[in-house]
Amino acid sequence: MSSSIASTKADSKIPLVDLQAQYRSIQSEVDAAIRRVLDRSSFILGDEVLAFESAFAKHVGATGAVGVSSGTAALQLALRALGVSRGDEVITTAHTFIATAEAISNIGAVPVFVDIDPVTYNIDPAEIEAKISERTRAILPVHLYGQPADMTAIMAIAEERGLWVVEDAAQAHGAAIDGRRCGSIGHLACFSFYPGKNLGAYGDAGAVTGNDPEVLDRIRRMRDHGRTTKYEHVEVGYAERIDALHAAVLGAKLPHLESWTDARRSHARRYSELLEGAMVEVPVTRDGFRHVFHLYVVRSARRDELLARLREEGIGAGIHYPIPLHRQPAYVALGYGDVSLPHTEAAAAEVLSLPMYPELTDEQIQRIVATVRASVA
Ligand SMILES: *Cc1c(COP(=O)(O)O)cnc(C)c1O
Repeated sequence: MSSSIASTKADSKIPLVDLQAQYRSIQSEVDAAIRRVLDRSSFILGDEVLAFESAFAKHVGATGAVGVSSGTAALQLALRALGVSRGDEVITTAHTFIATAEAISNIGAVPVFVDIDPVTYNIDPAEIEAKISERTRAILPVHLYGQPADMTAIMAIAEERGLWVVEDAAQAHGAAIDGRRCGSIGHLACFSFYPGKNLGAYGDAGAVTGNDPEVLDRIRRMRDHGRTTKYEHVEVGYAERIDALHAAVLGAKLPHLESWTDARRSHARRYSELLEGAMVEVPVTRDGFRHVFHLYVVRSARRDELLARLREEGIGAGIHYPIPLHRQPAYVALGYGDVSLPHTEAAAAEVLSLPMYPELTDEQIQRIVATVRASVA
């Protein structure tokens, strides 16, 4: 095994994500979209934004989509539009990127962290009920790594207790449960088009999707200074519009998303097949759930050793996420130091993301797997 690793271009690096490979594969379409915006010099809202919003809503299977300046902005605007405000509690997960909780904190609301299901890494619906108080207004599940959270159970709890559900779908473009796409199931859903996401802009961008036209209109107004006409502002809003340039780039990329997702899913199958019998746990996908593998995450008690070895071999592995949110200094300072979430803490110590992007080659996957096997044999 080790001699074959040495012979397969051990010097060439394999990044965690390769944005250049994607750009090269669609360069003429993206360049044409950018040129179109420059030629018209219409940079704020307008046709490019409207066209992308309607194409994206259609892709998600939602009534509408509102393009905003980032996934974080999408989360904040969604919570605000549903009336979540100061002192309200929002139930969420601590095993996620900090933006999930920041959006709650930055509108004066309070994140209440619930432990994860240790198999899927998503919020455990069975743990939600016990954390609901009279101040709870919403549940904010994250479809982590691209696998849908258990939305059937979450929607049932929300309905029974009169709570809003906002999906954090920042990692879940095209993910679905029994054919129903993430982004169309909760009351609202938030997407990020950060460059490394499954659908990425060339800078920060995001969107809120949903099925209630009135709520979507409120978000459309809020992202644009609470404006109803050029000089009339009915509420204090934000400057959180999506840029026309990003909308044009995203519009050029969207038709490719399905084939990119298929490639990710096929790379994931290949990884799992080749890792069979190796001393790492591979991702488990729930029946009927379409996992879109924003990240391919394995688990090992010897994670740190494995990470060091992969890096030595020029393989860009990552950890998503090494410090749970209740252990982040930012949240310890807010009084979360005593919160205990055993499954979340265990996952943070053991998860490892292997390179994942549509353009990954089988040869690269084989080299990565050989390195994993050699270091945890
Ligand atoms: C990327 C991400 C966000 C934030 O999106 P930005 O566009 O970077 O603001 C929120 N939640 C999750 C789970 C993410 O992965």
